[in-house]
Amino acid sequence: MVPAGIDLRSDTVTRPGPGMRAAMAQAEVGDDVYRDDPTVIELEERLAALAGMEAGLFMPTGTQSNLVGLMTHCQRGDEYIVGQNAHTYQYEAGGAAILGSIQPQPIENAEDGTLPIGKVRAAIKPRDIHFARSRLIALENTIGGKILPLPYLEEIRTLAREAGLALHLDGARVFNAAVALERPLDVVCSGFDSVSICLSKGLGTPAGSVLCGSREFIEEARRWRKMVGGGMRQVGILAAAGLYALDHNVARLALDHEHARLLAAGLAEIGALKVGVPQTNVLFVEIPPGDVAALAGHLAQRGIITSLRPSTRLVTHLDVDDAAIGQTVEAFRSFYAV
Ligand SMILES: *Cc1c(COP(=O)(O)O)cnc(C)c1O
Repeated sequence: MVPAGIDLRSDTVTRPGPGMRAAMAQAEVGDDVYRDDPTVIELEERLAALAGMEAGLFMPTGTQSNLVGLMTHCQRGDEYIVGQNAHTYQYEAGGAAILGSIQPQPIENAEDGTLPIGKVRAAIKPRDIHFARSRLIALENTIGGKILPLPYLEEIRTLAREAGLALHLDGARVFNAAVALERPLDVVCSGFDSVSICLSKGLGTPAGSVLCGSREFIEEARRWRKMVGGGMRQVGILAAAGLYALDHNVARLALDHEHARLLAAGLAEIGALKVGVPQTNVLFVEIPPGDVAALAGHLAQRGIITSLRPSTRLVTHLDVDDAAIGQTVEAFRSFYAV
């Protein structure tokens, strides 16, 4: 396979290599709506155990997994408290509100990605006919590549328990958090009632997310998944990619984090750029707005694919190696070294 270039737009762009494809080809399958697919069941059980939860439910996308999670927690007219920058609020086409009749109560994220405890507390509505019913707090980890601190998670868990609210984690990149913290996944997921984990980001599969929670929660979620069209059939072919990823692509996330740090260090030497400090595999770089168009062209000519903006996100992943980092730094340098 010839890589199309150095694609730093997202960690969703990875393509399955020969090992993953072989695992997919050999997968034992069955009709998963009948619960007959052993490979799906194995993936759900394995991922749930890793997250410290009782059960899992395989879905095609993280968007659907979050939606089903929210719809399982919240009834029509309920409300969920969520970050202004959260994927579920910003980037899922308003699904919770439109399909779930769940009112979002957005809170501005702090610089570190957390929802400040005082603001969350203040947003919880009293039980009164004037208000939507506060039901759930949804967090995201990592968010913008930032890791929610473990002591903060303890605080939010206490608040949720005191207020009688459920806690959902959009853990699309929660493995990145666990690997960066050098802690097991269940520690990072501890105290959440549900967590949605993407296999198609840093873990490198073509598709798939797993929603984890209690057995009872997942049985209820299964109905909502059917309703939104996520009941798939011989989908062990995709689940096999997920199992392969759990075996081969988790520990190596540390390498993606190292690559983001190397990229940051290289770009920081260019005076015109304002370069962030990556905590995981996501690096933000501020580019003088007047340079964006010309720089995007310059990079593209050198095979470097970006979504260049004044505030650009560069994401490292499975298909970005040491040499690619070096080439990227060199391409930025050559633009500014005139
Ligand atoms: C990618 C992502 C999702 C889900 O995305 P899909 O493309 O629908 O799989 C959800 N939350 C976060 C934080 C994500 O990055």
